[in-house]
Amino acid sequence: MSAYPPGCAFVDGTFCAIADAKISVLDWGFLRSDATYDVVHVWQGRFFRLDAHLDRFLASAEKIHLTVPHARDEIAAILAELVDRAGFDEAYVEMIITRGVSPTFSRDPRDAINRFIAFAIPFGWILRPEERQEGLAVAVSEIARIPPDSVDPTVKNYHWLDLVMGMYDAYGQGARTCVLSDGAGNVTEGPGFNIFVVKDGKVATPERGVLQGITRQAAMLLLGEMDVSVAERAVMLEELHGADEVFATSTAGGVMPVTRISAGTVADGKPGPVTRALIERYWDAHTRGDGWSIAVADIPRVGAALPKPGDA
Ligand SMILES: *Cc1c(COP(=O)(O)O)cnc(C)c1O
Repeated sequence: MSAYPPGCAFVDGTFCAIADAKISVLDWGFLRSDATYDVVHVWQGRFFRLDAHLDRFLASAEKIHLTVPHARDEIAAILAELVDRAGFDEAYVEMIITRGVSPTFSRDPRDAINRFIAFAIPFGWILRPEERQEGLAVAVSEIARIPPDSVDPTVKNYHWLDLVMGMYDAYGQGARTCVLSDGAGNVTEGPGFNIFVVKDGKVATPERGVLQGITRQAAMLLLGEMDVSVAERAVMLEELHGADEVFATSTAGGVMPVTRISAGTVADGKPGPVTRALIERYWDAHTRGDGWSIAVADIPRVGAALPKPGDA
């Protein structure tokens, strides 16, 4: 068995097999987590919310002074080409821009040559569809999320030691994954997912200290269509324990019921009606047009920077 999943990558302007995708050990993306990234998924041959992911990726890069060496339509073309070459109908497609390396190894980040990387690998799940009935067991960790005044959480980033240590905490408590607080009694998020609570038919999700997930945004739009009220506001840890329903949202799995929190169950421990209706609507939206989804084949293959098939 290969040490890598199957897939295709694009590094320094060239397509290659995922196992051959390599960068310098001197890249500050690796040495300092100095990078931003985004992940979009492909479901049944269609990208889901691609425009929203590209918007967030380009905005993130700008916020942290990184220059993406490709225009927006070139990035879309590269991602589509990756999915084609990998031959996947369902894929997890990641784009990354790292600070790169300073040719003189100066300590000035402005001297570094930023590096764009992208890859397509098989769809990655936090919770597989067949586990949906059971739901996710999460534990609230003692570890607080990195404060938003330190690292801007709206820039999707690899500062994950708080989340990873939280996962070890959660494993110790017999849970599958963790949710972190802000250290002042409010819910933030988990490793790669946002959190929602449902109480008396009303839905709320933390407003501050979290990544503005694209799945979170999609869930809010779909709940609006369902005439369910949804608020972005501070959500206290007690609300998590006292909720009628809790669910998580992520590109890696969509809308996922959370049925256990630390030692207790959420209500009766079964996925609730709002969560179940939302899951159905979420997957149905994967065939909608109007910015919801686009066939990989319909993405224009543009850009002088994009090598022709067969170049790699
Ligand atoms: C990616 C991510 C999410 C989920 O965002 P989506 O755009 O819905 O995939 C939530 N929190 C963190 C920390 C993330 O990195």
